[in-house]
Amino acid sequence: MHKTLNRQAGELHLYVHIPFCVHKCAYCDFNSHVRQAPPWEHYRLALLAELDHWSDQGQFAGRKLTTVFFGGGTPSLAPATLIADVLQLAAQRFELAGDAEITLEANPGTVDTARFAAYREAGINRLSIGVQSFDDAELLWLERIHNGSQAMQAFERARNAGFDNISLDLMHGLPGQSMHGWLESLNAAIGLSPEHLSCYQLTIEAHTELAQRHRRQPLALPEDELALDFLRSTRSRLSDAGYQAYEVSNFSRPGRYCRHNDAYWLYHDYIGIGAGAAGKWDEDDGGITRYADIRSPEGYIKAGISDGRCINNSETLGLKKAAGEAVWLGLRRHDGIDQQLFSKRFGQKIGEMFGEALRPWQRSGHLLISEETIKLSDKGLGMADSIAVSVLTD
Ligand code: SF4
Repeated sequence: MHKTLNRQAGELHLYVHIPFCVHKCAYCDFNSHVRQAPPWEHYRLALLAELDHWSDQGQFAGRKLTTVFFGGGTPSLAPATLIADVLQLAAQRFELAGDAEITLEANPGTVDTARFAAYREAGINRLSIGVQSFDDAELLWLERIHNGSQAMQAFERARNAGFDNISLDLMHGLPGQSMHGWLESLNAAIGLSPEHLSCYQLTIEAHTELAQRHRRQPLALPEDELALDFLRSTRSRLSDAGYQAYEVSNFSRPGRYCRHNDAYWLYHDYIGIGAGAAGKWDEDDGGITRYADIRSPEGYIKAGISDGRCINNSETLGLKKAAGEAVWLGLRRHDGIDQQLFSKRFGQKIGEMFGEALRPWQRSGHLLISEETIKLSDKGLGMADSIAVSVLTD
């Protein structure tokens, strides 16, 4: 029998989705919608109504919010008053921690110093700037709305507006991209000295412009070995520059990791509000429930303004499935999974639940297992998803 499990009654996290964009990037499969004139006022009302709704629900009520993340879409298109109103209501309905990390994603093609200053005034204290590359030809190919020098300018403007916690997003593994070309972009980013960097490999998702191009003429994506080389070179270059790899694709100056994203990998609870946003909470039996909101902005607004209930679909996972997900997410972290916390959360040791699935990976040197932690070895770096599959299907 499993022990009764403690719900994570402490920290809670809030994700706010802003779904509007100026143009759809070629690789994008996020819930983003191009609108000439986004219906900001109605969207603001729907967000506030949904947040109000969740603040009354027992699984979230009265808990302390320690991070808020405005993601998109392009949150840097939103009026600062919308951001301020959401934060104000969050502080009224929940306890918003004094040192809460409050992030906004910004597109370099949409910002100036005054806009950044207004977001700071609204309560944003961390920016995540979607640069992707500093190479103009690559940016054009990705159909970004900015060039390399605008990305540089955006960073400088953010600093001028007083932001001292900035992350840059970069993308490697573009067709035909050489290691030299990638490291030029990476070095340009390091030259700006951001507090945090996310470096993701380009993937071709179904239903994107890239997928269509790929069907018309196969794109020369890097083979597995080269993709792993990109990952290893990135880690080595960033380590030399003083950045710690705290997750497979994320790097930070000491202490400047993204607390919001780390909460996902730690399998904490979060509320998601906005079109297509997702949320999750722990159930008392050790399982979880998660939900996703209506994806279309217009449908979301209609539901939100009506009564704040915007869920499109939800599902509940039992303890074993939830534990498998927690292992999958936890293995992405550099520090891996804390064995004690896992046992406390799921009422059983990881070895008891997934020993058979994990032992072959340990024997092959991809996993390091000690009394305290389970984590990927250097050799296991590119294998997080394969290991996860064996756990999730165990
Ligand atoms: S800016 Fe971001 S969300 Fe918008 S289309 Fe481009 S990748 Fe997608």
